[in-house]
Amino acid sequence: MAASPLSQQPPAQAPLAASRRFGLVANRLHRQEGVGALGRWAEACEAGIRTLNLGLLAVGGTHDALVRDGLLAGHAPLTRLPHGPDGGLMRLVSRISGGLVPADEIDGVIYFIDPVDPSSLYPEAQALKRQCVIHGKPFLSTAAGAREWIAIELALAGHATGNAFAPREEQTVALIAHDALKQRMVAFAALHFDLLSGFRNRVATGTTGGLLNDLAWSRGWPADVPWVTRYQSGPLGGDAQIAELVLDRRCHKVIFFEDPHVARQHEADIQLLERAVCSATEETTCFNSPAMAERWAQALRVAMPAQ
Ligand code: PGA
Repeated sequence: MAASPLSQQPPAQAPLAASRRFGLVANRLHRQEGVGALGRWAEACEAGIRTLNLGLLAVGGTHDALVRDGLLAGHAPLTRLPHGPDGGLMRLVSRISGGLVPADEIDGVIYFIDPVDPSSLYPEAQALKRQCVIHGKPFLSTAAGAREWIAIELALAGHATGNAFAPREEQTVALIAHDALKQRMVAFAALHFDLLSGFRNRVATGTTGGLLNDLAWSRGWPADVPWVTRYQSGPLGGDAQIAELVLDRRCHKVIFFEDPHVARQHEADIQLLERAVCSATEETTCFNSPAMAERWAQALRVAMPAQ
């Protein structure tokens, strides 16, 4: 394949200051003693969290579950917000959006969602994700995503990540973009073409997939081989088809450039896909915005310069 300037690696950026702060929420299922995703994450990522001196603003019961299980003991930047019913989640929405004073602003949210927990459907829960997307801040809704994001933060801060990143050659990635963001998706795929080509498979909704295949063919991808497998267009059920792959553990990363500024006729399908991702919490990660996807790609290049 002919190399184009777009396939060249972007210059590595200087390590970032290690003072980022994330909101932390876990639905009841994920707070269970000894077996919940929250506890497993805190245990698996404890060293990284401490290395980063990562600020964590944990909503009531989530904070209390960490204390109950003796996790992150003595980690000074772990603080407690009120319980959800007392406004803890609502405060996170404000702080993702900038907070009341600059010192309150947070950089992202880790929210271990149980898709059948009604609280994950409350307006504040939906607003939290939406404001993350609007402000280009990470919203990690699964256990796999929360683990991977600590590796991303470590890589971008110049720390070692060991083998924290899943082997892409064993994984399938889904690429979906709403209309206003389709060109952004094409630009992302062009810039990170080799990285995305390293996945075992790529799948996409219909229109996005058509644009991506055209891009790949314009870069010398074999004309008789689609670069992505195309499903239906999103409004015609493509999100649901990709959700079925997720439920079957046959799609491991969903890169979804969502447009939060318009009413979506197929909102139910979009929610369906996100619920499927949360049901496959241990296996699947979801990036809802170009900023998240870019940060992941940048971290991979830092962690694995040969990619
Ligand atoms: P499309 O679907 O790629 O077919 O446009 C994406 C969507 O709008 O959900």
